[in-house]
Amino acid sequence: MSVWDDVVGQEEQIAPLRAAVGSTNSMTHAWLITGPPGSGRSHAARAFAAALQCDSGGCGTCRECQTALSGAHADVTLLATEKVTISIDEVRDLISVAQSAPSQGKWRVIVVEDADRMTERTSNVLLKSIEEPPPRTVWLLCAPAAQDVAVTIRSRSRVVSLRMPDPDAVAQLLITRDGVDPVLAREVALAAQSHIGVARRLARDPGARARRDQIVALATEIRGVGDAVLAAADLVAVSEQDAKASSEERDADERNALLRTLGADDGGRLPPALRAQVKQLEDNQKRRATRLKRDVLDRAITDLQSLYRDVAATQLGAQVELINEAHRSHIEQLAARTTLADTMRCLDALSTARKRLAGNVSPLLALEAMALALRPAT
Ligand SMILES: [Zn+2]
Repeated sequence: MSVWDDVVGQEEQIAPLRAAVGSTNSMTHAWLITGPPGSGRSHAARAFAAALQCDSGGCGTCRECQTALSGAHADVTLLATEKVTISIDEVRDLISVAQSAPSQGKWRVIVVEDADRMTERTSNVLLKSIEEPPPRTVWLLCAPAAQDVAVTIRSRSRVVSLRMPDPDAVAQLLITRDGVDPVLAREVALAAQSHIGVARRLARDPGARARRDQIVALATEIRGVGDAVLAAADLVAVSEQDAKASSEERDADERNALLRTLGADDGGRLPPALRAQVKQLEDNQKRRATRLKRDVLDRAITDLQSLYRDVAATQLGAQVELINEAHRSHIEQLAARTTLADTMRCLDALSTARKRLAGNVSPLLALEAMALALRPAT
């Protein structure tokens, strides 16, 4: 077992990170880890943070590894924002943390999960700290693409670019690590479009599979205005259930893992020194839950996009594997009933809805507008 096990299909991409663990020559103070959503950039950052703290270079099982991965390590600070932009005060707080030497670990590691959400002014404040960091401080910045962060930051960081793993690599991971049936593994890897976290959850939770099916089926059921409004409300409700189910399971797992590594049984009273670590974990979980709701809706839109992508492929007669093989008959009906221009219009409506959600428009309003646009032209 190793902290890198979950960073799938990126052996070459993460080689510089692995080389830097334990080698001062390959180490640097600022890293920029880029990759599309689902490529595992924040996971790679946490794995690197854990490997830097671990005595065995990232065994995945010791207390250092587990607390670093879960976000509870005293010398690993994670900034995962649920806001559209990271505030200048948040960055100032991080900089002051970055100034202090590690309390117990080997490195002071600061992970900024959404470095693309900084304004130029905030980036400039951060730049000073990245240029002259204390000797044991490492900044790990994550962003979808290198051009999403200020050029000044980019030029002073070492860039590690992740890619979307191949669906076969994701399926293989599910088979070997999670014991998933090969047919199901392949189906969910395709449905998740190689997003490892989503694929794993679809494989493990039949409820999650049913909710995804429901989302994909919604689009084919919209005929009139009434259907569209109902479909939007359903989509919000299904997504909220999904976010809740997903965070509850993960929160409990993380809490138990942390309590175990701290040597405390669940239910027993924790000494104050340990309580702070549990509190930090809970704060991270709360922030994540807020964010998860938006991510799940975004995911629902991705699922719908995959449906229309399949419809377009069918209309074009393209010889490609369908992402939603299980919905083939629906897809073929939709392809026959509409034109390619209709399908493109629907795909546009989906990307507009995604932009609106990212801009903090009320989810229900954004989805109603989207569902109305998905109505078949008569
Ligand atoms: Zn370890």
